[in-house]
Amino acid sequence: MTNPLLQDWTTPFQIAPFAEIEDEHFAPALDAALSAHLAEIEVIASRVDAPTFDNTIEALEGAGAALDKVLSVFFSLAGADSTPKRQELQRDFSPLLSAHSSAIYANTALFQRIETLWDARDTLDLNDEQARVLMLTRRSFIRAGSALSGSEADEMKEVKSRLAVLGTQFVQNLLKDESEWFMPLSDEALTELPDFVQDAARAAGEEKNAGGAVVTLSRSLIVPFLQFSPRRDLREKAYNAWAARGANGGETDNRGIAGETLKLRETRAKLLGYPDFAHYKLETEMAGTPDAVRDLLMQVWQPAKQHAQKDAAILEEMLHADGIKGLLEPWDWRYYSEQRRKAEHDLDEAELKPYLQLDRMIEASFSCATRLFGLEFAPLDLPLYHNDCRAWEVMRDGTHVAVFIGDYFARGSKRSGAWCSAMRGQAKKPAKQTPIVINVCNFAKPSSGKPALLSYDDARTLFHEFGHALHQMLSDVDYESVSGTCVARDFVELPSQLYEHWLEVPEVLAEFATHAQTGEPMPQALLDKVLGAATYDMGFSTVEYVASALVDLAFHEGNAPDDPMQKQAEVLAKIGMPRAIGMRHATPQFAHVFAGDGYSSGYYSYMWSEVMDADAFEAFEEAGDPFDSATAKRLADTVLSSGGSKDATELYLAFRGRMPGVEALLKGRGLAA
Ligand SMILES: [Zn+2]
Repeated sequence: MTNPLLQDWTTPFQIAPFAEIEDEHFAPALDAALSAHLAEIEVIASRVDAPTFDNTIEALEGAGAALDKVLSVFFSLAGADSTPKRQELQRDFSPLLSAHSSAIYANTALFQRIETLWDARDTLDLNDEQARVLMLTRRSFIRAGSALSGSEADEMKEVKSRLAVLGTQFVQNLLKDESEWFMPLSDEALTELPDFVQDAARAAGEEKNAGGAVVTLSRSLIVPFLQFSPRRDLREKAYNAWAARGANGGETDNRGIAGETLKLRETRAKLLGYPDFAHYKLETEMAGTPDAVRDLLMQVWQPAKQHAQKDAAILEEMLHADGIKGLLEPWDWRYYSEQRRKAEHDLDEAELKPYLQLDRMIEASFSCATRLFGLEFAPLDLPLYHNDCRAWEVMRDGTHVAVFIGDYFARGSKRSGAWCSAMRGQAKKPAKQTPIVINVCNFAKPSSGKPALLSYDDARTLFHEFGHALHQMLSDVDYESVSGTCVARDFVELPSQLYEHWLEVPEVLAEFATHAQTGEPMPQALLDKVLGAATYDMGFSTVEYVASALVDLAFHEGNAPDDPMQKQAEVLAKIGMPRAIGMRHATPQFAHVFAGDGYSSGYYSYMWSEVMDADAFEAFEEAGDPFDSATAKRLADTVLSSGGSKDATELYLAFRGRMPGVEALLKGRGLAA
């Protein structure tokens, strides 16, 4: 059997030949690719000549090409188009991959070559990027435990392997709880909702074969339901099901997994000589220490909480005015907030929505990239992994830059949230490769024949993920390990959050926010209302986010808690969490923190980046033009093209000349005193 995953791909742009790939191909391809990678590593490690940058570090950069191909296809499918078979494969693969990386980090001959180079680094005549790649390579070996030996090395290996299994299980439990629950809506309950929510509920009912409209736990459906349904009993039922994901008892319960994960992380940090996991994790980030993170979060927490408390009092009065006694509950907030938005800003999400067509918003995100960075986009007809996927070739000055893929609609087989990943990262050495970048979202799919309409939040998500894609596509470095979004975690959200600002530029909405039926541009009055309401309910969204970030930090500082749910309750009590606001991600659903190491003690990263994005957009405002070409060029030359080839602080200073304070962020969120 020829396995398409292991062939040379002769497709356009060497994109994966999805139409030929079957699930049966993955296990044997992974097996072969892992062996090939280990053989390449062994060749590098067992060389008899003295180590040089080229024969060791650059050779490592070039090793594992087959593995990259297999994994990029597999993880794209596992995240965006999962099946029970693919979930089973993912469970099988995670310990194999963990063992594979452990084997590389345990290769003492290889580590010795890297150490020799590190000791001689000042005499090697390396350029800046090479010096940084050497430093990062060595640091990843040290942090993985390569300098450990004997029983400590064995323990590290066991800890990492168990963590990989737990991370996969956590996500799969969550997906299961999310996909199994739905709530049928009576015709009466359905017709009380705006058209777009009705459409989404009917489409969800079709997908579930429920024989009618339903509410599911997909964020793109449950949030508008909570916003618009006047039926308090149904809101309460749906909210409680949403809040209970991963905490329903039985096989899919994530609370035990969370506790075990935190203990293992503590062990891992202590084996490496750190006081706790937060210190270990933050060492490589811009923030550097837990104290710096807490400082920022608490500077934002106080004004956000005050703001939210004032809002809560107003919403509770509205509840009482409806003849309901008692306290404002978490399932009431979005509903009364939407009523208040209509009253105060006269902005009705249902009125706004026909102007936010998915296709026009995609055009808007492309048009801004053309004006700022000279990128051009041409549709490509490629067989991809799902019919909903679309692809474009990205060019600049007639030269191929990248392939961009958009997979926008929610479906049961897709995990929730939105993300950007590179199926292939940019590099020039040892071989030239151009990026293949994918944006995955969970926008409600319209029933057939109707245009896809977005909420304003959805449109922001689209711009956000496209900002990550630009970071990949504009990357211009030598080595893939420092290309694109391979940067500090608290810097990676800068390009994405910065790009959201262009959605708010009035001339962008004026051009691209056109009505789905009439084609008319959004009326000036509505446009003004949208922009005026941009900071509406920021107390709520800041509180739900910062609370999650503070709980994440507390989980990883000091000794791991015996009971994470109790720890969560303690943190929330200490900061005075408003009772009618839930955490954006409570512990049993906190995939950022428990699906893997990515955002563990790192959920604050979005806010760290936001301090910079608010300040960075001000550079365009100071230049007097959101498309100022000199500022755009400086942004591309420093932040967007450099990936992780330079220190993040150095890149930001090169763009802006100084580091920002928290003021621009508070102003941008409407929370400034
Ligand atoms: Zn992001």
